[in-house]
Amino acid sequence: MTDRPGRFRLVAVVLALVVVPALTGCTPKADPAGDEGAAGIGDRYFPRYGNGGYDVAGYDLRVRYDPATDRLDGTTTVTATSRQALTRFNLDLVGLTVSAVTVDGRPSTHRRDDAELVVTPAERIAPGRRFAVVVEYAGVPGTVTNSGLGQGGFLHTSDGAVALGQPESASTWFPVNDHPFDKATYDVEVTVPDGLAAVSNGVPEGRTSAGGWTTWKWAERTPMASYLSTLVIGDYRVRTGVHKGRPVVTAVAAGLPADGPAARSLDRTTEIADYLETLFGPYPFESYGGIAVADPRVGYALETQSRPVYGPGFFADGQPNPNVVAHELAHQWFGNSVSVARWSDIWLNEGFATYAEWLWTEHTGGRTAQQSFERQYAVTDWSMPTLDPGPARLFSTAVYQRGALTVHALRRTVGDDAFFRILRTWTLERRNGNATTGDLVLLAERLSGRSLRPLLDAWLVGDTAPAMP
Ligand SMILES: [Zn+2]
Repeated sequence: MTDRPGRFRLVAVVLALVVVPALTGCTPKADPAGDEGAAGIGDRYFPRYGNGGYDVAGYDLRVRYDPATDRLDGTTTVTATSRQALTRFNLDLVGLTVSAVTVDGRPSTHRRDDAELVVTPAERIAPGRRFAVVVEYAGVPGTVTNSGLGQGGFLHTSDGAVALGQPESASTWFPVNDHPFDKATYDVEVTVPDGLAAVSNGVPEGRTSAGGWTTWKWAERTPMASYLSTLVIGDYRVRTGVHKGRPVVTAVAAGLPADGPAARSLDRTTEIADYLETLFGPYPFESYGGIAVADPRVGYALETQSRPVYGPGFFADGQPNPNVVAHELAHQWFGNSVSVARWSDIWLNEGFATYAEWLWTEHTGGRTAQQSFERQYAVTDWSMPTLDPGPARLFSTAVYQRGALTVHALRRTVGDDAFFRILRTWTLERRNGNATTGDLVLLAERLSGRSLRPLLDAWLVGDTAPAMP
Protein backbone atom coordinates (compact mmCIF):
# COMPACT_ATOMS: atom_id res chain seq x y z
CA MET A 1 0.00 0.00 0.00
CA THR A 2 1.12 3.53 -0.62
CA ASP A 3 -0.55 6.47 0.95
CA ARG A 4 -0.83 9.83 -0.68
CA PRO A 5 1.95 12.12 0.48
CA GLY A 6 1.17 13.90 3.69
CA ARG A 7 -1.78 11.83 4.71
CA PHE A 8 -0.13 10.41 7.78
CA ARG A 9 0.66 13.72 9.33
CA LEU A 10 -2.50 12.95 11.22
CA VAL A 11 -1.19 11.51 14.41
CA ALA A 12 -2.52 8.10 15.22
CA VAL A 13 -2.37 7.21 18.86
CA VAL A 14 -1.40 3.77 20.01
CA LEU A 15 -3.87 3.13 22.75
CA ALA A 16 -2.38 -0.03 24.12
CA LEU A 17 1.09 -0.46 25.45
CA VAL A 18 2.70 -3.03 23.26
CA VAL A 19 5.36 -5.22 24.71
CA VAL A 20 8.21 -5.42 22.25
CA PRO A 21 7.94 -8.94 20.91
CA ALA A 22 10.69 -11.36 20.24
CA LEU A 23 11.53 -11.49 16.58
CA THR A 24 10.22 -14.98 16.27
CA GLY A 25 6.80 -15.39 14.71
CA CYS A 26 3.62 -16.73 16.10
CA THR A 27 1.32 -19.44 14.89
CA PRO A 28 -2.45 -19.32 14.69
CA LYS A 29 -4.06 -19.86 18.00
CA ALA A 30 -5.45 -23.25 18.73
CA ASP A 31 -9.07 -23.73 17.90
CA PRO A 32 -11.43 -23.78 20.83
CA ALA A 33 -12.37 -27.00 22.51
CA GLY A 34 -15.14 -28.84 20.78
CA ASP A 35 -15.86 -29.05 17.12
CA GLU A 36 -16.60 -25.42 16.42
CA GLY A 37 -14.33 -23.36 14.21
CA ALA A 38 -13.09 -20.18 15.89
CA ALA A 39 -14.60 -16.83 14.87
CA GLY A 40 -11.09 -15.41 14.31
CA ILE A 41 -7.89 -16.86 12.92
CA GLY A 42 -5.90 -15.71 15.94
CA ASP A 43 -4.44 -12.34 14.92
CA ARG A 44 -3.76 -10.27 18.01
CA TYR A 45 -4.44 -7.01 16.13
CA PHE A 46 -7.77 -8.04 14.63
CA PRO A 47 -9.23 -10.89 16.68
CA ARG A 48 -12.31 -11.34 14.48
CA TYR A 49 -10.50 -11.36 11.12
CA GLY A 50 -10.39 -14.74 9.46
CA ASN A 51 -11.71 -17.89 11.04
CA GLY A 52 -10.33 -21.07 12.55
CA GLY A 53 -10.86 -24.72 11.77
CA TYR A 54 -10.27 -24.92 8.05
CA ASP A 55 -8.00 -23.87 5.17
CA VAL A 56 -9.50 -22.52 1.98
CA ALA A 57 -8.05 -23.84 -1.29
CA GLY A 58 -10.15 -21.80 -3.69
CA TYR A 59 -12.95 -19.32 -4.14
CA ASP A 60 -15.31 -19.35 -7.08
CA LEU A 61 -17.12 -16.01 -7.15
CA ARG A 62 -20.13 -15.27 -9.39
CA VAL A 63 -21.45 -11.81 -8.84
CA ARG A 64 -23.80 -9.52 -10.70
CA TYR A 65 -23.69 -5.83 -9.97
CA ASP A 66 -25.98 -3.09 -11.21
CA PRO A 67 -24.56 0.40 -10.60
CA ALA A 68 -28.02 1.91 -11.16
CA THR A 69 -29.36 0.25 -8.03
CA ASP A 70 -26.06 -0.49 -6.25
CA ARG A 71 -27.30 -4.04 -5.79
CA LEU A 72 -25.02 -7.05 -5.86
CA ASP A 73 -26.20 -10.63 -6.27
CA GLY A 74 -23.63 -13.29 -5.55
CA THR A 75 -22.99 -16.99 -5.40
CA THR A 76 -19.68 -17.93 -3.83
CA THR A 77 -18.29 -21.44 -3.66
CA VAL A 78 -15.60 -21.91 -1.04
CA THR A 79 -13.56 -25.10 -1.34
CA ALA A 80 -11.76 -25.84 1.91
CA THR A 81 -10.13 -28.58 4.00
CA SER A 82 -11.05 -28.98 7.64
CA ARG A 83 -8.20 -28.71 10.14
CA GLN A 84 -10.36 -30.26 12.86
CA ALA A 85 -13.78 -31.83 13.19
CA LEU A 86 -16.39 -29.16 12.47
CA THR A 87 -19.97 -29.09 13.62
CA ARG A 88 -19.98 -25.36 12.95
CA PHE A 89 -17.70 -22.86 11.26
CA ASN A 90 -17.62 -19.18 10.31
CA LEU A 91 -17.03 -17.15 7.19
CA ASP A 92 -16.50 -13.38 7.25
CA LEU A 93 -19.23 -11.40 5.53
CA VAL A 94 -20.11 -7.74 6.10
CA GLY A 95 -23.69 -6.68 5.43
CA LEU A 96 -25.58 -8.38 2.56
CA THR A 97 -28.36 -10.91 3.07
CA VAL A 98 -27.68 -14.61 2.83
CA SER A 99 -30.52 -16.62 1.33
CA ALA A 100 -29.04 -20.11 1.26
CA VAL A 101 -25.96 -22.06 2.29
CA THR A 102 -25.10 -25.60 1.32
CA VAL A 103 -22.18 -27.75 2.41
CA ASP A 104 -21.31 -30.49 -0.06
CA GLY A 105 -24.68 -29.95 -1.69
CA ARG A 106 -26.76 -30.34 1.47
CA PRO A 107 -28.73 -27.37 2.84
CA SER A 108 -27.14 -25.97 6.00
CA THR A 109 -28.34 -23.80 8.82
CA HIS A 110 -26.85 -20.32 8.92
CA ARG A 111 -27.10 -17.19 11.01
CA ARG A 112 -25.37 -13.85 11.21
CA ASP A 113 -23.32 -12.54 14.10
CA ASP A 114 -22.21 -9.05 13.07
CA ALA A 115 -19.53 -9.57 10.39
CA GLU A 116 -19.57 -13.34 10.82
CA LEU A 117 -21.63 -15.83 8.85
CA VAL A 118 -22.05 -18.85 11.12
CA VAL A 119 -22.70 -22.09 9.23
CA THR A 120 -23.92 -25.32 10.78
CA PRO A 121 -23.63 -28.11 8.22
CA ALA A 122 -26.21 -30.87 8.19
CA GLU A 123 -23.49 -33.32 9.05
CA ARG A 124 -20.32 -32.97 11.12
CA ILE A 125 -17.27 -32.49 8.92
CA ALA A 126 -14.48 -34.92 9.78
CA PRO A 127 -10.93 -33.58 10.26
CA GLY A 128 -8.81 -33.32 7.14
CA ARG A 129 -11.74 -33.49 4.78
CA ARG A 130 -12.22 -31.42 1.66
CA PHE A 131 -15.62 -29.73 1.56
CA ALA A 132 -17.43 -27.18 -0.56
CA VAL A 133 -19.61 -24.41 0.80
CA VAL A 134 -21.97 -22.56 -1.53
CA VAL A 135 -23.37 -19.27 -0.27
CA GLU A 136 -26.10 -17.33 -2.08
CA TYR A 137 -26.43 -13.72 -1.04
CA ALA A 138 -27.52 -10.27 -2.19
CA GLY A 139 -27.86 -6.67 -1.14
CA VAL A 140 -26.19 -3.30 -1.29
CA PRO A 141 -22.53 -3.88 -0.44
CA GLY A 142 -20.91 -1.53 2.04
CA THR A 143 -17.62 -0.42 3.41
CA VAL A 144 -15.47 -1.19 6.44
CA THR A 145 -13.32 1.20 8.41
CA ASN A 146 -9.71 0.11 8.14
CA SER A 147 -7.33 1.27 10.84
CA GLY A 148 -5.11 4.05 9.59
CA LEU A 149 -6.49 3.84 6.07
CA GLY A 150 -10.05 5.03 6.31
CA GLN A 151 -12.79 3.39 4.34
CA GLY A 152 -12.22 0.17 2.48
CA GLY A 153 -14.51 -2.36 0.97
CA PHE A 154 -17.08 -1.86 -1.73
CA LEU A 155 -17.23 1.79 -2.81
CA HIS A 156 -20.10 2.73 -5.09
CA THR A 157 -18.72 5.22 -7.64
CA SER A 158 -20.50 7.45 -10.16
CA ASP A 159 -20.17 4.81 -12.90
CA GLY A 160 -19.71 1.55 -11.00
CA ALA A 161 -17.75 0.40 -7.99
CA VAL A 162 -14.29 -0.19 -6.54
CA ALA A 163 -13.75 -3.07 -4.08
CA LEU A 164 -10.46 -2.41 -2.36
CA GLY A 165 -8.83 -2.04 1.03
CA GLN A 166 -6.26 -3.26 3.54
CA PRO A 167 -6.25 -5.00 5.96
CA GLU A 168 -9.84 -5.90 5.14
CA SER A 169 -12.16 -5.42 2.18
CA ALA A 170 -13.06 -8.78 0.63
CA SER A 171 -15.77 -9.60 3.20
CA THR A 172 -17.85 -6.66 1.93
CA TRP A 173 -18.55 -8.49 -1.34
CA PHE A 174 -18.08 -12.20 -0.75
CA PRO A 175 -17.97 -14.67 2.17
CA VAL A 176 -14.33 -15.32 2.93
CA ASN A 177 -11.74 -16.41 5.45
CA ASP A 178 -10.53 -12.82 5.55
CA HIS A 179 -6.93 -13.00 6.72
CA PRO A 180 -3.68 -13.29 4.73
CA PHE A 181 -2.73 -16.46 6.61
CA ASP A 182 -5.28 -18.40 4.53
CA LYS A 183 -4.31 -17.82 0.91
CA ALA A 184 -6.32 -19.36 -1.91
CA THR A 185 -6.90 -19.33 -5.66
CA TYR A 186 -9.73 -17.32 -7.20
CA ASP A 187 -12.08 -17.71 -10.12
CA VAL A 188 -14.14 -14.57 -10.57
CA GLU A 189 -17.09 -14.02 -12.91
CA VAL A 190 -18.60 -10.57 -12.77
CA THR A 191 -21.73 -9.60 -14.66
CA VAL A 192 -22.32 -5.91 -15.31
CA PRO A 193 -24.44 -3.87 -17.74
CA ASP A 194 -23.09 -3.87 -21.30
CA GLY A 195 -20.57 -1.12 -21.92
CA LEU A 196 -19.02 -1.21 -18.47
CA ALA A 197 -15.74 -2.94 -17.65
CA ALA A 198 -15.34 -5.32 -14.71
CA VAL A 199 -11.68 -5.92 -13.89
CA SER A 200 -10.29 -8.23 -11.24
CA ASN A 201 -7.07 -10.08 -10.47
CA GLY A 202 -5.16 -12.51 -12.60
CA VAL A 203 -5.56 -13.88 -16.08
CA PRO A 204 -8.46 -12.69 -18.25
CA GLU A 205 -10.60 -15.65 -19.24
CA GLY A 206 -12.82 -13.91 -21.77
CA ARG A 207 -16.20 -12.30 -21.64
CA THR A 208 -19.67 -13.02 -22.91
CA SER A 209 -22.75 -10.86 -23.39
CA ALA A 210 -26.42 -11.69 -23.21
CA GLY A 211 -29.58 -9.70 -22.63
CA GLY A 212 -27.83 -6.39 -22.04
CA TRP A 213 -25.34 -7.79 -19.53
CA THR A 214 -21.67 -8.69 -19.98
CA THR A 215 -19.85 -11.27 -17.89
CA TRP A 216 -16.11 -10.75 -17.38
CA LYS A 217 -14.09 -13.76 -16.25
CA TRP A 218 -10.80 -13.68 -14.33
CA ALA A 219 -8.63 -16.38 -12.77
CA GLU A 220 -5.91 -15.94 -10.16
CA ARG A 221 -4.36 -19.39 -9.93
CA THR A 222 -1.50 -18.41 -7.64
CA PRO A 223 -2.54 -18.36 -3.98
CA MET A 224 -3.73 -14.89 -2.99
CA ALA A 225 -4.42 -13.23 0.35
CA SER A 226 -8.02 -12.01 0.48
CA TYR A 227 -7.14 -8.33 0.99
CA LEU A 228 -5.29 -8.49 -2.35
CA SER A 229 -8.48 -9.25 -4.25
CA THR A 230 -10.09 -6.39 -6.11
CA LEU A 231 -13.03 -5.68 -8.32
CA VAL A 232 -13.24 -2.47 -10.34
CA ILE A 233 -16.41 -1.78 -12.32
CA GLY A 234 -17.10 1.23 -14.52
CA ASP A 235 -16.20 3.12 -17.63
CA TYR A 236 -12.55 2.19 -18.23
CA ARG A 237 -10.12 2.02 -21.12
CA VAL A 238 -9.00 -1.59 -20.85
CA ARG A 239 -5.86 -2.59 -22.72
CA THR A 240 -4.58 -6.12 -23.05
CA GLY A 241 -1.11 -7.16 -24.15
CA VAL A 242 1.43 -9.91 -23.61
CA HIS A 243 4.78 -9.75 -21.84
CA LYS A 244 7.10 -12.74 -21.41
CA GLY A 245 4.20 -14.96 -22.40
CA ARG A 246 1.89 -13.57 -19.73
CA PRO A 247 -1.16 -11.34 -20.22
CA VAL A 248 -0.85 -7.68 -19.31
CA VAL A 249 -4.12 -5.92 -18.51
CA THR A 250 -4.28 -2.24 -17.69
CA ALA A 251 -7.45 -0.26 -17.07
CA VAL A 252 -7.56 3.51 -16.88
CA ALA A 253 -10.74 5.29 -15.82
CA ALA A 254 -12.36 7.02 -18.79
CA GLY A 255 -12.49 10.17 -16.68
CA LEU A 256 -8.68 10.34 -16.73
CA PRO A 257 -6.84 11.53 -19.86
CA ALA A 258 -5.94 8.76 -22.31
CA ASP A 259 -2.34 9.90 -22.48
CA GLY A 260 -2.18 11.47 -19.03
CA PRO A 261 0.17 10.76 -16.13
CA ALA A 262 -1.80 7.77 -14.81
CA ALA A 263 -1.91 6.04 -18.20
CA ARG A 264 1.76 6.79 -18.85
CA SER A 265 2.75 5.45 -15.44
CA LEU A 266 0.81 2.22 -15.92
CA ASP A 267 2.45 1.82 -19.32
CA ARG A 268 5.76 1.31 -17.52
CA THR A 269 4.49 -1.65 -15.52
CA THR A 270 6.38 -4.40 -17.33
CA GLU A 271 9.58 -2.36 -17.63
CA ILE A 272 9.57 -1.78 -13.87
CA ALA A 273 8.62 -5.40 -13.12
CA ASP A 274 11.55 -6.54 -15.28
CA TYR A 275 13.94 -4.33 -13.33
CA LEU A 276 12.64 -5.62 -9.99
CA GLU A 277 13.00 -9.18 -11.28
CA THR A 278 16.74 -8.63 -11.62
CA LEU A 279 16.86 -7.84 -7.88
CA PHE A 280 14.21 -10.04 -6.31
CA GLY A 281 14.06 -13.13 -8.55
CA PRO A 282 11.41 -14.29 -11.02
CA TYR A 283 8.15 -12.34 -11.20
CA PRO A 284 5.82 -14.50 -9.09
CA PHE A 285 2.49 -14.36 -10.96
CA GLU A 286 0.89 -15.36 -14.26
CA SER A 287 -0.21 -11.90 -15.29
CA TYR A 288 0.67 -8.22 -15.02
CA GLY A 289 -1.27 -5.00 -15.00
CA GLY A 290 -2.68 -2.06 -13.12
CA ILE A 291 -5.89 -0.12 -12.65
CA ALA A 292 -6.08 3.67 -12.35
CA VAL A 293 -9.31 4.83 -10.74
CA ALA A 294 -10.64 8.38 -10.81
CA ASP A 295 -12.64 8.43 -7.57
CA PRO A 296 -10.79 10.71 -5.14
CA ARG A 297 -12.08 8.71 -2.19
CA VAL A 298 -9.45 6.12 -3.14
CA GLY A 299 -6.65 8.06 -1.47
CA TYR A 300 -4.03 5.36 -1.74
CA ALA A 301 -2.58 2.74 -4.06
CA LEU A 302 -2.88 -0.93 -3.20
CA GLU A 303 -0.81 -3.83 -4.50
CA THR A 304 -3.84 -6.00 -5.40
CA GLN A 305 -2.37 -9.20 -6.77
CA SER A 306 -0.95 -8.96 -10.30
CA ARG A 307 -2.99 -5.78 -10.85
CA PRO A 308 -2.41 -2.90 -8.39
CA VAL A 309 -5.04 -0.19 -8.06
CA TYR A 310 -3.86 3.43 -8.06
CA GLY A 311 -5.88 6.33 -6.66
CA PRO A 312 -5.92 9.62 -8.60
CA GLY A 313 -3.89 11.53 -5.99
CA PHE A 314 -0.63 9.97 -7.21
CA PHE A 315 -0.97 11.68 -10.58
CA ALA A 316 -2.53 14.94 -9.45
CA ASP A 317 0.53 17.05 -10.25
CA GLY A 318 0.31 16.12 -13.92
CA GLN A 319 3.54 14.11 -13.93
CA PRO A 320 3.97 10.34 -14.35
CA ASN A 321 4.73 8.59 -11.08
CA PRO A 322 6.83 5.49 -11.74
CA ASN A 323 7.84 5.39 -8.07
CA VAL A 324 4.39 4.38 -6.91
CA VAL A 325 4.36 1.71 -9.62
CA ALA A 326 7.73 0.44 -8.36
CA HIS A 327 6.33 0.34 -4.83
CA GLU A 328 3.19 -1.61 -5.71
CA LEU A 329 5.05 -3.97 -8.02
CA ALA A 330 7.69 -4.69 -5.36
CA HIS A 331 4.81 -5.88 -3.20
CA GLN A 332 4.12 -8.63 -5.74
CA TRP A 333 7.19 -10.30 -4.23
CA PHE A 334 7.08 -8.75 -0.75
CA GLY A 335 3.57 -9.09 0.65
CA ASN A 336 1.75 -10.89 -2.14
CA SER A 337 3.87 -13.93 -2.96
CA VAL A 338 5.49 -13.92 0.49
CA SER A 339 2.69 -12.77 2.80
CA VAL A 340 2.59 -11.80 6.42
CA ALA A 341 1.33 -14.44 8.82
CA ARG A 342 0.25 -11.71 11.24
CA TRP A 343 -0.44 -8.05 10.67
CA SER A 344 2.15 -7.01 13.27
CA ASP A 345 4.81 -7.98 10.66
CA ILE A 346 3.48 -5.50 8.08
CA TRP A 347 6.94 -3.92 7.74
CA LEU A 348 7.97 -7.06 5.81
CA ASN A 349 5.67 -5.68 3.10
CA GLU A 350 6.12 -1.95 3.41
CA GLY A 351 9.79 -1.72 4.37
CA PHE A 352 10.82 -3.68 1.28
CA ALA A 353 8.37 -1.90 -1.04
CA THR A 354 9.67 1.47 0.16
CA TYR A 355 13.23 0.24 -0.30
CA ALA A 356 12.32 -0.77 -3.86
CA GLU A 357 11.38 2.87 -4.49
CA TRP A 358 14.86 3.90 -3.33
CA LEU A 359 16.42 1.33 -5.65
CA TRP A 360 14.27 2.44 -8.57
CA THR A 361 15.19 6.08 -7.95
CA GLU A 362 18.88 5.19 -8.03
CA HIS A 363 18.40 2.99 -11.10
CA THR A 364 16.82 5.89 -12.99
CA GLY A 365 19.56 8.37 -12.15
CA GLY A 366 18.15 9.97 -9.02
CA ARG A 367 19.39 9.80 -5.46
CA THR A 368 21.32 6.67 -4.55
CA ALA A 369 19.82 4.31 -2.01
CA GLN A 370 22.60 5.41 0.35
CA GLN A 371 21.55 9.05 -0.06
CA SER A 372 17.90 8.16 0.56
CA PHE A 373 19.00 6.27 3.64
CA GLU A 374 21.00 9.21 5.01
CA ARG A 375 18.17 11.69 4.39
CA GLN A 376 15.62 9.44 6.07
CA TYR A 377 17.91 8.56 8.96
CA ALA A 378 18.26 12.24 9.80
CA VAL A 379 14.53 12.79 10.19
CA THR A 380 13.44 9.51 11.79
CA ASP A 381 11.51 9.45 15.03
CA TRP A 382 13.07 6.47 16.78
CA SER A 383 10.36 6.29 19.43
CA MET A 384 8.03 4.64 16.90
CA PRO A 385 8.70 0.92 16.31
CA THR A 386 8.70 -0.65 12.86
CA LEU A 387 7.95 -4.17 14.03
CA ASP A 388 4.66 -4.52 15.92
CA PRO A 389 3.61 -0.89 15.44
CA GLY A 390 0.13 -1.43 16.89
CA PRO A 391 -3.06 -1.83 14.84
CA ALA A 392 -3.64 1.93 14.59
CA ARG A 393 -0.20 2.47 13.07
CA LEU A 394 -0.09 -0.28 10.45
CA PHE A 395 0.57 2.30 7.74
CA SER A 396 2.75 4.70 9.66
CA THR A 397 6.06 6.26 8.65
CA ALA A 398 7.82 3.92 11.08
CA VAL A 399 6.57 0.91 9.12
CA TYR A 400 7.50 2.34 5.72
CA GLN A 401 10.52 4.61 6.09
CA ARG A 402 12.13 3.09 9.17
CA GLY A 403 11.39 -0.29 7.58
CA ALA A 404 13.37 0.76 4.50
CA LEU A 405 16.17 2.05 6.74
CA THR A 406 16.30 -1.39 8.33
CA VAL A 407 16.56 -3.08 4.94
CA HIS A 408 19.44 -0.81 3.94
CA ALA A 409 21.17 -1.31 7.29
CA LEU A 410 21.00 -5.05 6.68
CA ARG A 411 22.49 -4.54 3.22
CA ARG A 412 25.35 -2.40 4.54
CA THR A 413 26.08 -4.96 7.24
CA VAL A 414 26.12 -8.16 5.19
CA GLY A 415 27.32 -6.66 1.89
CA ASP A 416 25.61 -6.53 -1.49
CA ASP A 417 26.34 -10.10 -2.46
CA ALA A 418 24.80 -11.68 0.64
CA PHE A 419 22.01 -9.09 0.76
CA PHE A 420 20.65 -9.79 -2.69
CA ARG A 421 21.12 -13.52 -2.14
CA ILE A 422 18.97 -13.17 1.00
CA LEU A 423 16.24 -11.37 -0.97
CA ARG A 424 16.20 -13.90 -3.80
CA THR A 425 16.27 -16.87 -1.41
CA TRP A 426 13.44 -15.34 0.63
CA THR A 427 11.19 -14.90 -2.40
CA LEU A 428 12.05 -18.39 -3.65
CA GLU A 429 11.77 -20.36 -0.39
CA ARG A 430 8.71 -18.52 0.87
CA ARG A 431 6.97 -18.22 -2.48
CA ASN A 432 3.15 -18.53 -2.23
CA GLY A 433 3.39 -18.76 1.55
CA ASN A 434 3.50 -16.76 4.74
CA ALA A 435 6.45 -15.65 6.80
CA THR A 436 7.45 -13.72 9.90
CA THR A 437 10.22 -11.35 10.89
CA GLY A 438 11.80 -14.23 12.80
CA ASP A 439 11.92 -16.25 9.59
CA LEU A 440 13.75 -13.41 7.84
CA VAL A 441 16.29 -13.09 10.62
CA LEU A 442 17.03 -16.80 10.51
CA LEU A 443 17.48 -16.75 6.75
CA ALA A 444 19.71 -13.68 6.81
CA GLU A 445 21.87 -15.24 9.53
CA ARG A 446 22.11 -18.51 7.61
CA LEU A 447 23.17 -16.87 4.35
CA SER A 448 25.46 -14.23 5.82
CA GLY A 449 27.02 -16.37 8.53
CA ARG A 450 26.54 -13.52 11.01
CA SER A 451 24.51 -12.97 14.12
CA LEU A 452 21.98 -10.33 13.06
CA ARG A 453 19.38 -10.31 15.79
CA PRO A 454 20.92 -7.41 17.76
CA LEU A 455 21.22 -5.34 14.58
CA LEU A 456 17.63 -5.94 13.52
CA ASP A 457 16.33 -5.39 17.04
CA ALA A 458 18.04 -2.01 17.12
CA TRP A 459 16.73 -0.95 13.71
CA LEU A 460 13.22 -2.32 14.10
CA VAL A 461 12.29 -1.62 17.69
CA GLY A 462 15.08 0.23 19.50
CA ASP A 463 14.07 3.67 20.77
CA THR A 464 17.31 5.47 19.98
CA ALA A 465 19.09 6.00 16.67
CA PRO A 466 21.26 2.97 15.88
CA ALA A 467 24.81 3.61 14.68
CA MET A 468 24.92 3.86 10.90
CA PRO A 469 26.53 0.71 9.52
ZN1 LIG B 1 2.96 -0.55 0.24
